[in-house]
Amino acid sequence: MKVAVIGGGIGGLSAALQFLKVGLDVHVYEQAPHIAEIGAGIQISPNASRLLLRLGLRAAMDAAGTRPRAVHQRRWDDGRTLQRAPLGPEVEATFGAPYYHFHRADLANLLADALPQGRLHVGHKLVGLEQKGEHVIARFENGATVEADLLVGADGIHSRVRGLVFGPEKPRFTGCVAWRGLVPAERITHLGLEIASHSWLGPDAHVVHYWVSGVRMMNVVCVVEHGDWTDESWTDKGEVADVLARFEAWHPTVRSLIGAFPETFIWALHDRAELPSWSAGRVTLLGDACHPMLPMMAQGAAQSIEDGAALAMLLKAMPEDIPGALARYEAVRKPRATKLQQASAANRKRFHLPDGAEQRARDEAMATSGDRSIANIGWLYAHDAAEVL
Ligand SMILES: Cc1cc2nc3c(=O)[nH]c(=O)nc-3n(C[C@H](O)[C@H](O)[C@H](O)COP(=O)(O)OP(=O)(O)OC[C@H]3O[C@@H](n4cnc5c(N)ncnc54)[C@H](O)[C@@H]3O)c2cc1C
Repeated sequence: MKVAVIGGGIGGLSAALQFLKVGLDVHVYEQAPHIAEIGAGIQISPNASRLLLRLGLRAAMDAAGTRPRAVHQRRWDDGRTLQRAPLGPEVEATFGAPYYHFHRADLANLLADALPQGRLHVGHKLVGLEQKGEHVIARFENGATVEADLLVGADGIHSRVRGLVFGPEKPRFTGCVAWRGLVPAERITHLGLEIASHSWLGPDAHVVHYWVSGVRMMNVVCVVEHGDWTDESWTDKGEVADVLARFEAWHPTVRSLIGAFPETFIWALHDRAELPSWSAGRVTLLGDACHPMLPMMAQGAAQSIEDGAALAMLLKAMPEDIPGALARYEAVRKPRATKLQQASAANRKRFHLPDGAEQRARDEAMATSGDRSIANIGWLYAHDAAEVL
C-alpha cells in the first residue's frame, strides 16, 4: 500500500515510522526546506513514548531527552505547593514507559533520522489533491505530483488537506497568548530548580517550565488570558520587559526565570471546533490537522503519535479495505482526542481562576486527590493506542 503523508512535524514523522514498521510504502512530504522545529520544549508522556520506544528509538530518546522526577504545581504568589506527583521511575514502572522532556528540534530530528533515506521529501508544499477511483493524486507547489492509495494530512492546525477535503474554515483565537523563552542553565543556577515539570497557577495566567537539552536549557512558557496578540507564529519576537510587567506581582522564582530570558517569542493560541468527520474516501487527517488542542494537558503531539500508531495497526489489519480502516480509525481515536481537547479547555479555566472560593476549592482538590497522581492519571498514560482490534 502506497501512503503519502503530508507534513513532517512530530505527527507526520512518527506516523511514517509506524506505517513503515507494518510494511507500508510510505513517503512524507514537508513544505519547509528542511525539518526545523522551533526552539522550544515538548513533554512526551508514557502513552506516546511507549509507541516511539517500540520503533527502536530508546537509545536516541534517552540521549536527547531529559527525564523529569516529578510534576510540581505551585501557587503564583507565595509558591505554595498545590500538587506534586511523581513522573520519574514510579511512572516508568507503572506505565511501562518513561516521561520525557525534549527540545523540539531534538525530537523532530531523531524521528527524521530514523526514516530510511529517500522517504522524506522536503520543499514539497501540497497545493491540491484529487481522488480518482482507488487512488489519490497530490499536487505540490514545485510542480511535482504523486499518486498514492492513501493520503494522510498531518499538516498541522492550518491543514491544507483539511481545507481541500472539508472546505475552508479558520482556526479560532482562544484569547490566550503565550510567551516563551529558553534560559541557559548558567543564568539560573542560583534558583536550584530540580529536574521536574514545574507550573505556577495564578489569576488569568500560568507558567510552565522544565529542563531540556541535557539540562543545559530551561524551557519556559508563560500563558496569559486577554492577550491582544493574534498572530500564530512561534518566531514573532516579544519584549522581555512586557512579560516581566505582566508577571510583576508573581513569585520571585518566576520573575527571575523571565528576567533571564535571552529573548522571548510570542504566540497566540488557537483551536478549532470538533470536526464531524476526519476522513473522506482515501484521505484522512491526524494530529493538529484534525484535533488541535490548547496546551494545558501537554497532549497535542502525544495524541498525534497515538493517531499514527492506531492507523498503522488498522491498515495492517484491513489492507483490502482502506475506507473501512479509516472509519475504524476515526471510531477509536476521535472520542479520546475530543476528550483531551475538552480536558485541555477545562484546565485553561482551572489554571487561571481568580483568587477566591473557586480557586480554594481547586487547591483543596489538588492537595487531596490530585489529578496528576499515578492513581488518577492512568486513563491517560496507560492507554495503548496500538491496541485497536
Ligand atoms: C505552548 C505549547 C506547548 C505545547 N506543549 C506540548 C507538550 O508538552 N506535549 C505535547 O504532546 N504537545 C504539546 N503541544 C502541542 C503540540 O505542539 C502539537 O499538538 C503538535 O506539534 C502537532 O503536531 P502535528 O505534526 O500534528 O502538526 P505540526 O507540528 O504543526 O506539523 C505540521 C507540519 O506540516 C507542514 N505543512 C503544513 N502545511 C503543509 C503543506 N501544505 N504541505 C506540506 N507540508 C505542510 C508544516 O510545515 C509542519 O512541519 C504544545 C503546543 C503549544 C502551543
